[in-house]
Amino acid sequence: MTTQTAGIHHITAFVRNAQRTADFYTGVLGLRLVKKTINFDAPEVYHLYFGDGAGNPGTIITFFPYERSRQGKIGAGQVGVTTYVVPEGALDFWKTRLAELQVSAEEVARFGERYLQFADPDGLKVEIVARAAGAASTWSSEGIPADKAIKGFGGAILYSAAPSKTAELLADVMGLVKVGQEGAYARYKSFGDIGNIIDVNVTEMEAGHGGAGTVHHIAWRAKDDEEHAAWRSHVAGHGYQPTPIVDRQYFQALYFREAGGILFEIATDPPGFARDEEPAELGGKLMLPEWFEAQRDQIERLLPPLEIKTSKEGK
Ligand code: ZN
Repeated sequence: MTTQTAGIHHITAFVRNAQRTADFYTGVLGLRLVKKTINFDAPEVYHLYFGDGAGNPGTIITFFPYERSRQGKIGAGQVGVTTYVVPEGALDFWKTRLAELQVSAEEVARFGERYLQFADPDGLKVEIVARAAGAASTWSSEGIPADKAIKGFGGAILYSAAPSKTAELLADVMGLVKVGQEGAYARYKSFGDIGNIIDVNVTEMEAGHGGAGTVHHIAWRAKDDEEHAAWRSHVAGHGYQPTPIVDRQYFQALYFREAGGILFEIATDPPGFARDEEPAELGGKLMLPEWFEAQRDQIERLLPPLEIKTSKEGK
């Protein structure tokens, strides 16, 4: 059994407004809404999944839009920055595009790479880096040719309340390899080709608190149910306390809080988002798990309208 994760499966964050979030992640970043469903614990709230054309693991950011949410604060105990990766040579395209769309971005460098850093409408910190690794996107949106499109996650920056313990977890339990140390950052790499570069901020940081504009958890990939079960014993064997395995319809999940305060999830690659919609129709309809179907009319009345304007199938 392997106890190495390929990398990030998905990242889940809190925001306030469903439409504004969809406009940003589809209209500005050119991702596809691959699943429109509800928070299974609070059916009056959407759970929106945005990813590449197929919603592949390593490309998926998910949101719970709570209109009445307090503003969160990004800080220790959270994923601090979510990193997207675009093809080599595409960063200047994104610099121009963000400027044209009035998204204020700052260019920074880490480990010899250029990053464009900016915030989403709720303040979630996002960055874009260009790398050769990772398959090109097959999804194109208005104004974004497929050869410039986001391929998925490049990785993330973790803000830990106990960075050395988080780093140890990445290396000894998650199976990443330390590949560098520079200034405030230690860099870890998994074997996958996207969602595979994790920087840990090793400086002391103020604690964050949850709410709009913050990441709730980061999920790591397990290749199938058998490996997932083995992951559960593996993390428990290292002194963490994993939850039981939970069915999330599109993957199986388990969660544990790491020593630096960040909520980790391990999620299976299968069955994926084509489980209940044809690949061409992903994100088109409100999908409910069977146990909520009887309440569909009521749930649809409670959810705010959501219009996806710009996505289309690319070449
Ligand atoms: Zn999750």
